[in-house]
Amino acid sequence: MSKEKKRYIRYNPSFMKRVNDSTKTDWAAISVLAHEIGHHLLGHTLRHQESNPGDELAADRYSGFILFQMGATLEETLRCIEKEGDLHGTKTHPPRRARIDVISEGWKDAKRLKNKKITDFTPERSNIEETLKYTCSFVGDENTYYVNNVNQNGLV
Ligand SMILES: [Zn+2]
Repeated sequence: MSKEKKRYIRYNPSFMKRVNDSTKTDWAAISVLAHEIGHHLLGHTLRHQESNPGDELAADRYSGFILFQMGATLEETLRCIEKEGDLHGTKTHPPRRARIDVISEGWKDAKRLKNKKITDFTPERSNIEETLKYTCSFVGDENTYYVNNVNQNGLV
């Protein structure tokens, strides 16, 4: 961390080029960067300790989430870890299979979130009506207003 409290991600351009070449997709380098940004945003870099499998999986999940949002397919998202991930894992990094699983989960979480309709977030109408005393509506206003037992109103 610098004096200005800015955080930096340093990367090795020849490593990035090598992963893009070996996987034949630019999403590879992007997924590496997304993973590193994940470490920053999750606060891992503030602990000043060696990375560990738990942190790695959390950063992996984040990278899957972001790559979906950037437009990568699941296959493109996984290409880098499939090619570069260590089969059995290391002291700091989990085995490839576990990393593939969490990256997929992150990607699918982002997809689910995108497909969620706004109505999925509102409670069941029948539950609301049980706790309400009156409904009222106004001419020229398409909304229905509900008033509950303690005279609080809500808009449904
Ligand atoms: Zn990492």
